[in-house]
Amino acid sequence: MSTIENVTVKCAFCGKNSEQAKMMSVSAFDEPDLDFRPSEMLRSTMGLWLMECPHCGYVADDIRKRPHMKKETLLRIYGGADADLPVIALIFQKRALYCEHTKDTSGAIRAYLCAAWACDDEEDHTHAKMLRIKCLELTQCYLKRCWCRKWRRYTQLAADLLRRTENIETLRKMDTNDKRLDYATRELLLFQKGLAEKGDFSAHSRIEVDLNPYDDFFEKRISTKTDHWLCSEEYLKQAVSVNDDIREKALEALDALRPRELNLPYHEFDGALLLHRGIPPDEEHPYRTRDLAKAVNQEFLNVLETFVVPGNSIREAVTQQSKVCMTMLYQLYTSPYLADNWKDYADARQRLYLMRVDDPFSDDSYLIGLVEPRASKTAP
Ligand SMILES: [Zn+2]
Repeated sequence: MSTIENVTVKCAFCGKNSEQAKMMSVSAFDEPDLDFRPSEMLRSTMGLWLMECPHCGYVADDIRKRPHMKKETLLRIYGGADADLPVIALIFQKRALYCEHTKDTSGAIRAYLCAAWACDDEEDHTHAKMLRIKCLELTQCYLKRCWCRKWRRYTQLAADLLRRTENIETLRKMDTNDKRLDYATRELLLFQKGLAEKGDFSAHSRIEVDLNPYDDFFEKRISTKTDHWLCSEEYLKQAVSVNDDIREKALEALDALRPRELNLPYHEFDGALLLHRGIPPDEEHPYRTRDLAKAVNQEFLNVLETFVVPGNSIREAVTQQSKVCMTMLYQLYTSPYLADNWKDYADARQRLYLMRVDDPFSDDSYLIGLVEPRASKTAP
């Protein structure tokens, strides 16, 4: 049960009185979310976790207590808040900015997280993601200077923040062999990696993670599951290999790891290469990219782009792998079947170029369409 009481408080910042609702007691019945968001009833009392003075906008756990800074400084800090946020989120963001200024990193992490939860409730996904990115940044710094239980707790939080902000590559790389991980944290990380690999970026509860209870108080449980996701990046690169066998094995491994629809572009890529066997991929003999263009997703483009090399190194030792990935990208970015939102992906069209290549078997030369690496054009 929750008990709420209205109290009249005097703001320590402006000296004016206001009515504030104060939470006397409240219970949370179930397991929290993976990012520690409490379950009901506590969950829906967020509006009472902080006080905001209606006269001057001062935000604190208790506005009867003075802020640890000058008036001008506090107002300047609040000036950095985003007025477009949902009401409760804005209050937490003000608290977060205050904590950041007073070097209270854990307080700032918590306040940004609460602000993100408030955005979730309002289905404001853009702001929720932005606040989680900020929260993640602080969490990653904080992790470097905390130990033991605290380190494990913030590691669990970082994993959820990475997934919720769709930062799959970094989540995949989280080291599940780190000796500092305990049983539960490692199982939670594997669960997060599994969700991300399925393209699930929504909120989940800890209750869904099948954590074996400790049978014996003195027993130290060890998580022994294999982390397939540590290798999934490798599988993705192998899935665009020029070697048919390597590609086939990688596709099998990926299909076992996640829904097949996510692997569709890799299957189509495989099909296009098999069809094209033995023919140089020049302008006159393009790959058959119609079906591939329709299946393209961001991850697939990113994987191909990792093989792109600068134009001035093409005539030197450029691998067959790079050549295939670059011509494939060129043909995709110029394909009428590619959805418009991908046509300018990472300034693609400005990076395309044609190169004349001598045919080693005759006096002829032919044109191939290639693409410059992203960094060379996108760097400031
Ligand atoms: Zn006030």
